[in-house]
Amino acid sequence: AIPLVVAIATERAARGGVLITDRRAMEEMRTVDVVVFDKTGTLTKGQPVVDHVHAVDGDTDALLAVAAAAESESEHPVATAIVGAARRRSLPPARATEFLATTGVGVQAVVDRHTVRVGGPALLRDAGIDPLAATTDWSAAGATVLHVLVDGTVAGAIGLSDEIRDESREAIDALHAIGRRVVMITGDAQPVAESVAAQLGIDQVFAGVRPEDKGAAVAGLQQQGRRVAMVGDGVNDAPALAQADVGIAIGAGTDVAVATAGVVLAGSDPRSVLSVIELSEQSYRKMR
Ligand code: ADP
Ligand code: MG
Repeated sequence: AIPLVVAIATERAARGGVLITDRRAMEEMRTVDVVVFDKTGTLTKGQPVVDHVHAVDGDTDALLAVAAAAESESEHPVATAIVGAARRRSLPPARATEFLATTGVGVQAVVDRHTVRVGGPALLRDAGIDPLAATTDWSAAGATVLHVLVDGTVAGAIGLSDEIRDESREAIDALHAIGRRVVMITGDAQPVAESVAAQLGIDQVFAGVRPEDKGAAVAGLQQQGRRVAMVGDGVNDAPALAQADVGIAIGAGTDVAVATAGVVLAGSDPRSVLSVIELSEQSYRKMR
């Protein structure tokens, strides 16, 4: 049977927009000493906008048009941003076929009989290609950089920026105030990650992490004796949410994340993590 205090706390949590789907989450949350946040869509708004386009041949419209064609079937926020940017420039949509998306890496499609790939650091690493020099300043300023490859050759790059949520700084300060360590994990590149981490006062960063390695990063912290809560929104966060002692999904996130987590936040406010810790502490204090 569910102890009454836990039932009461769970109900109170639900009224505050925190849905406890796994009762153990309520027991374990108060013992967590590290809170790991995903970056995109969790600490940031997850609605990036295109603010730089660079084409090796100088034709930025053509570059954006092929990138948008390749991204047209993807639901990733960067895809939405690129398709939107092409539409705002009134670029005639190119036709694309044979779509292939790789979570945490990028997309591929055939556009005008050319294979077009658009993606981040993992795509470049796989292709053995260095980032274009033009993108160095963008990433240093905190932009997400995607490269566009046409038939395996770099044709250009797109820089996107994603606003940090207003509530993120407060959430992290409050976690520090109660003695918790805060870690950020992201598939995005190191310079972007460091820029966001510096703005938020985050203690430790794992960048360029593939979805399948996010779980291993959490396991690594656990092997150091840490008790870990992981907060994420994406399909790519599911393995880490499952590995963590407590998995917390942003309610506005993907179904997979929500299904994997023991706690679901109705809103997208990272400060709600504090409510979960408080509720957990309160209910177990009463039980003793
Ligand atoms: P995060 O871990 O920050 O939530 P993701 O794991 O979703 O980010 O994505 C990691 C990286 O993979 C992105 O920063 C981007 O470089 C690349 N990526 C993912 N999906 C796409 C896409 N549809 N088009 C281009 N790049 C993508
Ligand atoms: Mg995310």
